[in-house]
Amino acid sequence: MLLVFLLLAVNACVDRNARRSNDADDWAAQRARMVRDQLAARDITDERVLAAMGDVKRHEFVPPAQRSYAYDDHPLPIGNGQTISQPYVVALMTQLLKLQGNEKILEIGTGSGYQAAVLARLVKEVYTIELEPDLATSAKERLRQLGYENVRVRSGDGFFGWPEAAPFDAILCTAAAPRVPEKLVDQLRDGGRIVLPLDRGGEQELVTGIKRGDDLRVRSHGPVLFVPMRGKVRE
Ligand code: SAH
Repeated sequence: MLLVFLLLAVNACVDRNARRSNDADDWAAQRARMVRDQLAARDITDERVLAAMGDVKRHEFVPPAQRSYAYDDHPLPIGNGQTISQPYVVALMTQLLKLQGNEKILEIGTGSGYQAAVLARLVKEVYTIELEPDLATSAKERLRQLGYENVRVRSGDGFFGWPEAAPFDAILCTAAAPRVPEKLVDQLRDGGRIVLPLDRGGEQELVTGIKRGDDLRVRSHGPVLFVPMRGKVRE
């Protein structure tokens, strides 16, 4: 009985590895399945977002030990206690920005650089800030190697934004903040959008804010789970 179980288990592993072989065609097929089953089958309808998600090689952004799970429907560890978001969440946040193609965008929380790469396919310029110097360095190098020339990466506390490059057409935070950092709103152009997970005492919700003069019109898009934004926003 035990032997049969062991044989079945070994067989399942072999199957899994066969399905997850590393050649380029297989990655492309996994990506196409991800777009179809995890994004289009839910509520991702923006064709440009679907195309970008089908294009960006997510497996290049995860550590080697996680590669075979790169196109699965969940977040993955990327080192330094941080995570790359679930593909659906990346697509949803990107869709909520309602991008046309000519924008200049700021991202807070570069992490692996994956979200920045998706944005880079969709807009003119991406500025992205990462608190952890190690992650910033490796994301910068990865994006350069993969040919993403319209992304600038900086290490620092995203709470302060990137004033020299402001105003931005849109801002995206991929770490949960207890409130919308005011400096980010200052660096948003009038009519621009900010998308971020807000930490409401343990529960998080994804919100979009549209800047209208001195006002930020905030709308909720349901519960999410992100790593916390650290640094000045917590003081
Ligand atoms: N967008 C990333 C996932 C980010 S996880 C990707 O596509 O891979 C959130 C990231 O935010 C982490 O890497 C974390 O180190 C970073 N972070 C947390 N607080 C920050 C802050 N105040 N400023 C900039 N980055 C921050």
